[in-house]
Amino acid sequence: MKKLCVIGDPVGHSKSPLIQNTMIEALGLDYVYLSRRILKEDTALWLKQAKAEGYAGFNATMPHKEALVPLVDELGADAKRFGSVNTVCIKNNKIYGYSTDGQGFLRALEEIGVLVPGKRVTILGAGGAAKAVALKLAQVGAERVTVCNRTPWRAEELCKQNAAVLRPAGLDIGTLSRLAEESDLLINCTSLGMEGVTGQFEDFSFLDALPPCAAVCDLIYAPAETELLARARSRGHRTMNGLGMLIHQAILSLELFADIVIDAPAMAALVRSVLK
Ligand code: NAP
Repeated sequence: MKKLCVIGDPVGHSKSPLIQNTMIEALGLDYVYLSRRILKEDTALWLKQAKAEGYAGFNATMPHKEALVPLVDELGADAKRFGSVNTVCIKNNKIYGYSTDGQGFLRALEEIGVLVPGKRVTILGAGGAAKAVALKLAQVGAERVTVCNRTPWRAEELCKQNAAVLRPAGLDIGTLSRLAEESDLLINCTSLGMEGVTGQFEDFSFLDALPPCAAVCDLIYAPAETELLARARSRGHRTMNGLGMLIHQAILSLELFADIVIDAPAMAALVRSVLK
């Protein structure tokens, strides 16, 4: 039986073992998926250990996604673009790094019927998740993506990667209200509203400026409905939490680990039922 795992610190909260083992069992694959707590300073050491212990691959969560980039032998296009690796495959003693975050988010959007080409998008946050989402949306034809962040230089740095589509902005209520007026899609990629994290949007009135047909997404999945999503839903907007992205990035990872194609809608439905 081949070994896979998720590495991180902390890692105990990760839903990856449950999601991956559910999929492995459903597909009858000869893998087992474990969980390993690896400290921030031990990313390189872990790679050697993973090879020595015969791992076929692993997923990486905080704080290893960026640290893995210079350590793998070959990077996939998205991993290179986002400067982040969440999926590592070890094949013939060679280490391949991929990122499935951006594509996972796209697949989740497709599930709720949002098509990206031509859309005007406002992204709240400029951290690792925002980067994957913003760059992927720009790549697949969003008309413009405005990245709003508390710390301006992080948004500015991110937007330099595709200046034709991405624009930096602040996270103040005036800016958000102005941008909301011209947004087809608003996505929270900050940790504001997340369970166990102190911090919440102080003012949600920017939601009033959104066009009625705008969709609102939150990458957070715990709680299942953040206050942002509840308020958007009560105003009649289509909403989506972060569970779809979590599930689809996992499906894409397993496709890479096992070199298979998975029926994503059917698998996503199965995983959702198990997570419930
Ligand atoms: P990160 O790199 O640490 O970025 C955090 C972002 O949140 C930054 O833009 C940060 O702004 C902002 N932020 C944090 N506290 C804030 C506050 N009090 N006021 C305003 N802005 C604040 O984290 P990440 O990896 O991008 O993750 C962001 C969120 O996405 C988390 O909730 C995470 O759980 C979620 N996520 C979900 C999935 C999924 O599969 N659904 C995948 C990845 C991440 P500054 O730059 O100003 O600090």
